[in-house]
Amino acid sequence: QQPVLNADADKVAAVVASGEREEAAPVAIRFDAYRAAGGYKLWEAIRSGECDPEAIVQALDGAGLRGLGGAGFPAARKWRTVAAQPAPRNMAVNIDEGEPGTFKDRHYLATDPHRFIEGMLIAARVVGIAGIWIYIRDEYPALRRLLAEELDRVRAEWPDLPPIELRRGAGAYVCGEESAMIESIEGKRGMPRLRPPYVAEVGLFGRPTLEHNLETLWWVRDIVERGADWFARHGRNGRKGLRSFSVSGRVAKPGVVVTDAGVTLRELVDEHCGGMLPGHELYGYFPGGASGGMLPASLADVPLDFDTLAPYGCFIGSAAIVVFSQHDKARLLAENAMEFFAHESCGQCTPCRVGTAKAAELMKQPVWDAELLTELGTTMMDASICGLGQAAPNPMQSVLRFFPQEVGAAKEEGAA
Ligand code: SF4
Repeated sequence: QQPVLNADADKVAAVVASGEREEAAPVAIRFDAYRAAGGYKLWEAIRSGECDPEAIVQALDGAGLRGLGGAGFPAARKWRTVAAQPAPRNMAVNIDEGEPGTFKDRHYLATDPHRFIEGMLIAARVVGIAGIWIYIRDEYPALRRLLAEELDRVRAEWPDLPPIELRRGAGAYVCGEESAMIESIEGKRGMPRLRPPYVAEVGLFGRPTLEHNLETLWWVRDIVERGADWFARHGRNGRKGLRSFSVSGRVAKPGVVVTDAGVTLRELVDEHCGGMLPGHELYGYFPGGASGGMLPASLADVPLDFDTLAPYGCFIGSAAIVVFSQHDKARLLAENAMEFFAHESCGQCTPCRVGTAKAAELMKQPVWDAELLTELGTTMMDASICGLGQAAPNPMQSVLRFFPQEVGAAKEEGAA
């Protein structure tokens, strides 16, 4: 029997297929304009041997550039590790951008795609890459077409580039995890691999693989041309560098904000987002999408960066900030996140497959069983194979710690 789609689902599918909902692509800086403004000079200097590859790696090191897909691994260390592995070495670029609330990669690709492509080519040359696979989410059809056109233009200019393949994702959140993405590129089900071995050693098609998020590569040209000090000079509250925050929710002006690493939520909302929406007061926020946990308004002055949120059981991840107000319920947001994780679990390991579904069910009770949920969350964190299952309990645990009044639970020790 054929599944019956309702009219709305048909309509949504038609709009998605047409790519009409993506309006940003026409404003992109195309190849000629990018080159005219000094683009690809650094790439040509590296290609011709004028620029020392080691100087590039040192610049990234000095700037403190970290993986901006969410994991925050130092980029220079990754380049050195993969370059030290035996050839042939592959490269995989992650534009799956599935973390709820994250849209920075989409913004960069829609406006300035060649800054990313140049960074990618530089990385490939410095690390000695034999082939590049770009994995882009299928929900960005107009951007995929834009990227394909601009890659054709680049190949026409430099025909001796390593092969560059564009692969379409199929809407699985877990394929944003690097090893699941690699499985998917290889044509298999997108299920995370057990590590070790790490993808830097045994990655795509069994070869050492340099895996990067789009934004990490987007910064390479600017850091090298302007200098490591330029990047590291930014930052506040003791942190260094620039970060791209995807801000959404109850703020007056949502969008991508590029500002100092270490900015606080209060600074971000007041200085860049026009404050809260009229009639809304800050109640709490997700600092790192659905997986990074939730913080209450009383912690709006904590510096937002890698490593700063661990004491609160949270992390910044891909810097997706979702702001909520007194008109929202933290418990409903956490329930929604858990249902999302249950839906997106690849099902490979029991703590995640069963744990997310069980937690989503338990979280529907008017009064939460804090002891049981805490035990379940700890098991999922300790025993799941990948970050999905390990991070899934974060919003639930944030509610128990910071919003216990909503679920009839006692306030935990250390709660703000
Ligand atoms: Fe799959 Fe979840 Fe296990 Fe990750 S933690 S491997 S998503 S079942």
